[in-house]
Amino acid sequence: MHVQNKKRFYLMVGLLIVVILLVGFSIYMIWSDISSSNAPVQTASNTTNTANADSSQGNRTDITASQAITNPTDLLVLVNKTTSLDENYQPSDLVWVDLPGVRETQLRKEAATALEDLFAAAELKNLSLYCCSGYRSYQTQEELYAENVKTYGQKEADLVSAKPGQSEHQTGLAMDVTAESVNFDLLESFGQTTEGEFIKNNAHLYGFIIRYPEDKTAITGYAYEPWHLRYVGKDVAAEIDKNNLTFEEYLKTS
Ligand SMILES: [Zn+2]
Repeated sequence: MHVQNKKRFYLMVGLLIVVILLVGFSIYMIWSDISSSNAPVQTASNTTNTANADSSQGNRTDITASQAITNPTDLLVLVNKTTSLDENYQPSDLVWVDLPGVRETQLRKEAATALEDLFAAAELKNLSLYCCSGYRSYQTQEELYAENVKTYGQKEADLVSAKPGQSEHQTGLAMDVTAESVNFDLLESFGQTTEGEFIKNNAHLYGFIIRYPEDKTAITGYAYEPWHLRYVGKDVAAEIDKNNLTFEEYLKTS
């Protein structure tokens, strides 16, 4: 090879190596960026946590097959990662909840009345509970979910929020509650606060269950959410509380 051509050849090889290294480095940076966005899921700020009300970090299995829910108005309707509410389903008896809250929110009438009783019982113990998020339409959930897909990517979004149709909030029977002691946030530590303890010990007396209990992720598909209350009526709530069941387990055995 001519000396001049040889030089050119080595220059080209050198350039090629530099390009390959740059491309490789870029891919690595993008990849690590995506991975690191997983981290703040549980300790996220106020706004993120609101979007994460149906957090599901525990379940890393994507369930694609989902069954259409045929009894959406049933007080014992099961909404989870394997079942889906129709996009047009909206309870016909929604009322604005007349309780202190982070924002105005709705519940089905029977659940709202029961929640008023629960909050009143807390007041008697000098505990102030606050509503955070009750009924959410399919469309609202769709927006929340899309927001999470944008922020975290599809795979991660599935770990931090429910797909539209699969959020219990669409039933109008679920309410996220919070307290000043956790800065009106939705945090796992709420479970250890006086308010959280009160909820744990008394919610069933008013017909509510903690829908995603601690250490039941394998059954519910969701991480521990001491703030997420689901109305099921007093009898069922008492049964679930007495036997330390999840809603899934109760429905299987009842
Ligand atoms: Zn919730």
